[in-house]
Amino acid sequence: MLADSYGRVATDLRVSLTDRCNLRCTYCMPPEGLEWLPKPELLTDDEILSLIRVGVTRLGITEVRFTGGEPLLRRGLPGLVAGTTALTPRPQTALTTNGIGLARMAPALAEAGLDRVNVSLDTLRHDRFERLARRRRLQDVLDGMAGAAEAGLTPVKVNAVLMRGVNDDEAADLLSYCVEHGYELRFIEQMPLDAQHGWRRDTMVTADEILARLEADFTLEAADADTRGSAPAELFHVRGVRFPGGDQATVGVIGSVTRPFCGACDRVRLTADGQIRNCLFARQESDLRALLRGGATDEEIADSWRAAVATKLPGHGINDPAFLQPARPMSAIGG
Ligand code: SAM
Ligand code: SF4
Repeated sequence: MLADSYGRVATDLRVSLTDRCNLRCTYCMPPEGLEWLPKPELLTDDEILSLIRVGVTRLGITEVRFTGGEPLLRRGLPGLVAGTTALTPRPQTALTTNGIGLARMAPALAEAGLDRVNVSLDTLRHDRFERLARRRRLQDVLDGMAGAAEAGLTPVKVNAVLMRGVNDDEAADLLSYCVEHGYELRFIEQMPLDAQHGWRRDTMVTADEILARLEADFTLEAADADTRGSAPAELFHVRGVRFPGGDQATVGVIGSVTRPFCGACDRVRLTADGQIRNCLFARQESDLRALLRGGATDEEIADSWRAAVATKLPGHGINDPAFLQPARPMSAIGG
């Protein structure tokens, strides 16, 4: 087991497949992009699968989520999904993506055994998308979501980040669009993880504000006070509104900053260059790549991984005066 000293057990592994991306979302990256990891430092597909195998067969990992950077940029993705779902016990597999290229890739990913996708969508307006992500690719994202649903990668979940004065007037429009298409929308509070260190508490749109904006147009009822478990999203039913299949419509709000869920966190992260991070905000990493390339046994790798998780801090500390943003941005850690 991957247990820490506060009684939490990590079962959800987030694997970053690349730090590169074909968008430049303002809350994530500067317009010019970042200095990408050199290829020799990236884990190969075989190395990634070796580490996932150790996590699943020796350490109790039950869910593997591929992310990045943009994971669809990694050519070996269907093979990585297939290799992961071939493990015993078979973990659940998921993908967090900006959706560009998903329309084309979704059938192969479903065939490989992918269970679910989360697609990021912050606006439904082409001009805004271009300002926000610095590329004119909104239609590709919408097509990607539709392609995922068509390929059976359901329920398609949609992640949205609202920013004050940029897209915070679109909360209700995003929810209407998602409900109409059968997608489960979740709003995420913006976190201090951008490479430019531009996050400011006073421009962050809080969970309370997101709910107030939604409640101007919809009636929300808390859905899961007892069953939330380690899920970060607080889920709400949208009264009187149904998905196309007839189920009650829902919306989630992830208050990472103002309503932290660290006490129930079950996540651990593997970066594209083979470092284990026990938290998005960790200031230390454990180098599994060096162990793997140095010929360590599975048990030695598992021991190092256990030790990395054992030192997980109780919380992310964003609200402490002494908070320091981690050296690596979200795109390099794996969101
Ligand atoms: N490129 C993929 C995507 O955009 O979905 C996967 C990686 S991205 C880093 C993962 C998620 O993190 C996305 O939903 C994105 O909106 C979110 N994200 C990125 N920077 C963030 C920030 N500073 N605060 C909150 N969420 C952020
Ligand atoms: Fe790329 Fe995702 Fe970061 Fe946007 S949030 S720049 S899509 S990695």
